[in-house]
Amino acid sequence: MTRCYNFCAGPAALPQAVLEQARDELLDWHGAGLSIMEMSHRSAEIVGIAERAEATLRELMGIGDEYAVLFLQGGASTQFAAVPLNLLGENGTADYVNTGQWSKKAIAEGKRFGSVNVAASSEDTNFTTIPPRDTWKLSADAAYLHYTPNETIGGVEYFWVPEATAPLVVDMSSTILSRPINVADYGVIYAGAQKNIGPAGLTLVIVRRDLLGRAVSQCPAMLNWKTAADNDSMYNTPPTYALYLAGLVFEWLKAQGGLEAIGAINRRKAEKLYAAIDNSAFYANPVEVPSRSLMNVPFTLADDSLDKVFLAEAEQAGLLNLKGHRSVGGMRASIYNAVGEDAVDALIAFMQDFEQRNG
Ligand SMILES: *Cc1c(COP(=O)(O)O)cnc(C)c1O
Repeated sequence: MTRCYNFCAGPAALPQAVLEQARDELLDWHGAGLSIMEMSHRSAEIVGIAERAEATLRELMGIGDEYAVLFLQGGASTQFAAVPLNLLGENGTADYVNTGQWSKKAIAEGKRFGSVNVAASSEDTNFTTIPPRDTWKLSADAAYLHYTPNETIGGVEYFWVPEATAPLVVDMSSTILSRPINVADYGVIYAGAQKNIGPAGLTLVIVRRDLLGRAVSQCPAMLNWKTAADNDSMYNTPPTYALYLAGLVFEWLKAQGGLEAIGAINRRKAEKLYAAIDNSAFYANPVEVPSRSLMNVPFTLADDSLDKVFLAEAEQAGLLNLKGHRSVGGMRASIYNAVGEDAVDALIAFMQDFEQRNG
């Protein structure tokens, strides 16, 4: 068996130790005589797995009791609708900041449910910057301020938290668990699991409890955070196997030393890769330096007619899924928690060799 290095933006690499444990436990989980997938979600086993996953996550992120932790389905994209349905009220206004493709989708969905004010946008720089906070035109009485702390496609990340009176609602799909954050800065944090949490099919929502119970009456029960909170995320059948895997990933993260430790590794990985790009005349990254993502690193080759050769040779070298998003072109290396420093070293060595032969 050969495992390649996987730079996929999502679903993304999972820690090998987690996959091995899941394999070992697949047919007969801890002597239960069943696989996790075959158990009732009301069983003591699954309830225990869900409780442990939540407890480990709370410990990793420092989530206080004033927040509910919800394990849902539908991906981050479903939360684009759930956010306004839960927070906007009948005639509310919400502020959004547009820094790329995912912000845009959240804005488009928000507009279906109420009045959306785009307070700032970096579309004029082709989403390679973050508009400075002092240029944002916030509404006087916004129900919330929504932004995307890491734009997975453009590779743009906030390393600051905007000041605002409205609760901050953030789509952290591609940066959650990559470094420590102060949860208390936010009203709602949501994320699809398939980047840094676990397999696709699970969605995490962390919501301050005082924001529960504000949903409009038309809000479907399945999108209502309070319904989920009141039922410990088991209003209907949760994605039990994905939740089990997420729990294993949380424990793996704890064993790595938690978010402080993984954050230091992630910073080192990203710094190496950006340095390799910046120190070459052949590769380029378009993002303003202070906002370069630690998780998603897009880069272009000096001659885009070489893109196909680069990708084919990378694949032969065991470096998979480096093709950039169709809207940006070029390459993108997603270097989430489960992508080790060895993978980044192998990528850099390949890039340097490719440049020598083609540059
Ligand atoms: C991947 C991603 C999404 C989409 O997530 P789904 O779970 O597929 O709906 C949304 N926002 C960001 C920032 C992402 O990286």
